[in-house]
Amino acid sequence: DKLPEKDNKLRLKVREFMEKNVKPIINDYWYRDEFPHELIPKLKELDICGLSYKGYGCQNKSNLLDGVVAAELSRIDPSLSTFIGVHSGLSMGSIYLCGSEEQKDYWLPKMRNMEVLGAFGLTEPLVGSGVAGGLTTTCEKKGDKWVLNGQKKWIGNSTFSDITIIWARDINDNQVKGFIVEKDNIGFSVEKIEGKVSLKIVQNGLITLDNCIIEEKNRLQNANSFKDTSKVLKMTRAGVACRMKDEQASLAKVWITKAMRRLVSTGRELFGGNGILLEYDIAKYMADAEALYSYEGTAQINELIVGRSITGKQAFI
Ligand code: FAD
Repeated sequence: DKLPEKDNKLRLKVREFMEKNVKPIINDYWYRDEFPHELIPKLKELDICGLSYKGYGCQNKSNLLDGVVAAELSRIDPSLSTFIGVHSGLSMGSIYLCGSEEQKDYWLPKMRNMEVLGAFGLTEPLVGSGVAGGLTTTCEKKGDKWVLNGQKKWIGNSTFSDITIIWARDINDNQVKGFIVEKDNIGFSVEKIEGKVSLKIVQNGLITLDNCIIEEKNRLQNANSFKDTSKVLKMTRAGVACRMKDEQASLAKVWITKAMRRLVSTGRELFGGNGILLEYDIAKYMADAEALYSYEGTAQINELIVGRSITGKQAFI
């Protein structure tokens, strides 16, 4: 009800698009673990990337509209919503919040119209929740270039994206820095993670950075420590809750994903045996819910953030 009429029109346009173009084909892609590249030209027309960003060809719409659009995508397919969330939120958002004016002018208009697709590489094979203090991927400045080494796991869109934002620890000052890594960079390779049973359409990659050389112009000029990485995570953590304080966004994420898990499980039960057949959709929602529960901060981690905020004491292991 709080959406202006023009924004509500966009919401309905997205709903119609999902019903007409996505619903009939999406379960088959899910079954085959494949991404529906055929939908990209139509998604471009919808014009839903970078909705809430100001300038750089973006629309300066409300965070509420951004969140409602994400919900409309998820209503039919949480994987497609994740694809847009990673591209428009995490990847574009890193450049929007941490890039120089030059970097924003160059990349954001191209990403808004999906001419350039983005990914976001923070998690590592041995470090997920603990990325704030435990990032092991390194960067080192050599002359006017940077050398990156390490691995990134679970990176959504990375098997086909044009750029990936890579977060790495500088071995000289120990601070986390961000880099715009292009797909054909020497020393950058991606292997698709096979065998997922949740968000099967999202193409998650294991990235290896083996003496990957990045020019200074592709270092995010305003990413100087993990505090800057956190700004991006805070913005995306809770979608519509993104204007809230960190602990409020965390609470929203925990509450909503716990409720989602209960809801999809009850839904599955209502369908009886049919509830485990893909053609009845609910089994896919139930499986997809598991990834949403864990990514962008697990329930426990978000609860610990809220607990620390209320009690002033931290209970992280
Ligand atoms: P862990 O951190 O190992 O957690 C395992 C368990 O231990 C959890 O229950 C957790 O709550 C608990 N735990 C961990 N630390 C503590 C602690 N200190 N105290 C108490 N309990 C603790 N990452 C990216 O960078 N880019 C992406 O695009 C991306 N896309 C993803 C898409 C999917 C489908 C999935 C599943 C993941 C994606 N991720 C991505 C990674 C995701 O953000 C991580 O999976 C998440 O942060 C959890 O990290 P982990 O898997 O290493 O689990």
